[in-house]
Parts: sequence; C-alpha cells; structure tokens
Amino acid sequence: MTDNTYDVIILGAGPAGLTAGIYSSRARLRTLILNEGTAGGQLVLTHEIANYPGVDSISGFQLGNIMKKQAVKFGCTVKSNINITAYDFSSKLKRISLKNGDEYFGKTIILAPGGLPRTLGIPGEAEFKGRGVSYCATCDGDFSPEKRSLSLEEEIPHSRRPFR
Ligand SMILES: Cc1cc2nc3c(=O)[nH]c(=O)nc-3n(C[C@H](O)[C@H](O)[C@H](O)COP(=O)(O)OP(=O)(O)OC[C@H]3O[C@@H](n4cnc5c(N)ncnc54)[C@H](O)[C@@H]3O)c2cc1C
Repeated sequence: MTDNTYDVIILGAGPAGLTAGIYSSRARLRTLILNEGTAGGQLVLTHEIANYPGVDSISGFQLGNIMKKQAVKFGCTVKSNINITAYDFSSKLKRISLKNGDEYFGKTIILAPGGLPRTLGIPGEAEFKGRGVSYCATCDGDFSPEKRSLSLEEEIPHSRRPFR
C-alpha cells in the first residue's frame, strides 16, 4: 500500500466522522479523515455540551478535541482545513484530489459531512451562536422550559410535507 492509499477515507471530522475514525483505526484499518473545517465540526461552535452521555458538562471545543485525540491515538490521520476539488468513486480504489495538489486513494469512503443549520440573518445571531442562539431543539430546548415547540402542522405546511 502506498503512502497516500488508505483502507478507509472519511470525509468530515465532526462527531460522526471522528467516531467512524476511532472505530476504523481501532480495527487496524489504515484510516484518513479529510475535513473541510476545524476538527470537531459543529461541536466547536457550541459553548456547552450538557447531553453527552457520561460527561456532565464540557465545552464543544474540548469535546471535539478529545474525540480527535482518541482517533489519532488509534492511528487515524486527521487533515483539517482541506479543500476537495475532484473525486472519482467509480473504481475499486477511489480517488480524492485536493486543492493543494495532494491525491489520496481509498478502498472505502465514508461520507460524514454533517449539515449547516438554516440561519435567520438577524442582528446578534452570528455573535451569540452557541451562546444563547440555538439551532437544536433536542440539545437546548431544556434551556427554555416555558416555551412550547411548534407542532408539525405549524412547522411544515401540509402541502410541503414529503409524505402526506
Ligand atoms: C450552535 C450549535 C449548538 C449545538 N449544541 C449541541 C448540544 O448542546 N448538544 C448536541 O448534542 N448537539 C448540539 N449541536 C448539534 C451537533 O453539533 C451536531 O448534531 C453534530 O455536530 C453533527 O455531527 P456530524 O459529525 O454529523 O456533522 P458536523 O458536526 O456538521 O461535522 C461535519 C464536518 O464535515 C466537514 N465537511 C463538510 N463537507 C465536507 C466535505 N465535502 N469534505 C470534507 N469535510 C467536509 C465540515 O467542515 C465539518 O467539520 C449544536 C449545533 C450547533 C450549530
């Protein structure tokens, strides 16, 4: 196996990608994580994580760092702030090309690119993201027990639902 060939290449180093990296490298598979942003993904934007089982309270940045260290400890290579310009998944050995000219080959590709919350574009939103401005009802609903969540009918009009 050449230096730039891996058993598993994971795209995205959020909690999903890093978890996949921990399991894959622990299974002795040569594993590379390529991440567009900062390792940790959306976690790094989160002031406090209070719903991670077994951890009472931790900053998202810290938790992301621990996950990354854990993956690296098992032999996983993590490359952050990369930019993918081309890929070819049609052959058995899949190819990924980066903007800096590097090329990587993987027998298996795992996609873990996460998502981006829809923003409102209101004053203070960016400034207080993760410190009062929340996008995740299951994460932060508990901070506002007096509020009620929208019913499905209010949130997605019947005509726009994929399954009626
Ligand atoms: C402000 C805020 C607060 C939150 N608070 C909580 C909380 O308290 N508790 C909780 O459980 N959850 C919380 N969440 C949600 C939680 O962060 C996400 O559910 C979780 O991060 C999703 O993990 P993921 O790995 O699927 O994706 P992400 O965290 O989105 O990570 C995906 C990664 O993939 C990278 N990527 C994207 N496209 C590519 C590509 N083409 N190639 C390579 N890399 C790519 C991205 O740069 C990113 O680093 C919060 C989210 C936000 C925004």
